[in-house]
Amino acid sequence: MSNSYDVIVVGVGAVGSATCYDLAKRGVRVLGIEQFSVPHTMGGSHGFSRQTKIAPYIGSSYEPIILRAYELYAELIDESGQSDLMVTTGFLDLAPHRDFPGYKQNLGHFEDLEIEQIHQRFPQFQISEPYWGAYDPQGALLRPEMVITTNVRLAMQRGARIIGNTKVLDWSADSGGVTVQTDRETYSAERIVFCAGPWTGKLLGALGVACTVTRMSFAWVWPLQDFKAYEPESMPCWCIEDEDGIYYGFPMMNDVPGYKIGLHWYGEPVNPDRFDRTPNAHDEELIRKGLRRYFPEANGPLVGLRTCLYDHTADDVPIIDVHPEHDRVVICGPLCGAGFKFVPAYGEAAADLAVTGRTELPIDFLRVARLL
Ligand SMILES: Cc1cc2nc3c(=O)[nH]c(=O)nc-3n(C[C@H](O)[C@H](O)[C@H](O)COP(=O)(O)OP(=O)(O)OC[C@H]3O[C@@H](n4cnc5c(N)ncnc54)[C@H](O)[C@@H]3O)c2cc1C
Repeated sequence: MSNSYDVIVVGVGAVGSATCYDLAKRGVRVLGIEQFSVPHTMGGSHGFSRQTKIAPYIGSSYEPIILRAYELYAELIDESGQSDLMVTTGFLDLAPHRDFPGYKQNLGHFEDLEIEQIHQRFPQFQISEPYWGAYDPQGALLRPEMVITTNVRLAMQRGARIIGNTKVLDWSADSGGVTVQTDRETYSAERIVFCAGPWTGKLLGALGVACTVTRMSFAWVWPLQDFKAYEPESMPCWCIEDEDGIYYGFPMMNDVPGYKIGLHWYGEPVNPDRFDRTPNAHDEELIRKGLRRYFPEANGPLVGLRTCLYDHTADDVPIIDVHPEHDRVVICGPLCGAGFKFVPAYGEAAADLAVTGRTELPIDFLRVARLL
């Protein structure tokens, strides 16, 4: 088999798999290279659930991106027949302010809930004044592993070559094309797209942009009573703004017994190739603190506790752009700890940039120049 391609995608996690699928749909000869197995639990895309919602992004730069992502997720479900890839649960945002543009302007994408209404509709949440609730009926739970697997399956059915357990060690680009050296073979292509998530800084160090990686944890907890109240028919995906960060969670699904909860905060900086992945007592305490505050009656046994990686830029806004020094190189990451919901749109934009050098999606705020 030839080692020469139109486009090489480095990293077949969330956005790398979406980029491979998008390129394959266009008939581009694409090679996706992944250092671990596809999918895996070593980066930023495992744990069976991710939230998506529309209301907070309305009126912001992310509005066209989230709307396009919803369209593309619907197309992915249609083409794959994988209807459980996205489960509409609604999304409940609980905060003592209305800072998101979509909430401030009340552009009609959510229901405004006062404390009594929250208690009536969602009695699981122990919330009091000055909290206020925004309920987005379009909020949903995405299945990250299933999304990656589906993207890869459909891409390969369309002729893409995707190889796991192959690490990119080095790359170069010049006017003739790009060369990628892996721990197995060397490959060449017309263009390259970096979708390396937490490893972006390691592969693109010469870019001169700080990419920090932090260690995060999340848990599944068994509610002690009233189990039905924690099932998707009764419990939406949710976020609660707290002095320690934002607690977030999901209803009980079939993957792991219990309801899932995590704390969204900056995290503890680590080297993605060398850090302690084993969950510890501090990880559990971060979760227990939130349970004591907001779910005291459902603060039950811990069923699962895992670690995972966030990746950050200096302003915690992702990078999607052509490399400023190499026009054959596209950068698609870091996605900054909240990127899953946008993944098919980011993948489409990255594929556009690789094929034509431009994209219709308004991604100027994601360009790298702001960080240089
Ligand atoms: C605990 C947690 C909860 C989250 N919750 C949400 C949420 O509710 N909603 C939301 O929208 N987002 C959420 N996010 C963020 C979102 O999941 C991530 O932004 C997104 O999944 C990252 O995708 P990615 O493709 O950039 O990275 P990854 O999926 O990690 O993919 C990068 C890939 O590149 C590969 N790679 C790197 N270097 C090399 C190399 N040298 N050679 C070959 N392969 C390489 C890696 O192995 C990896 O597979 C959450 C993240 C975490 C960690």
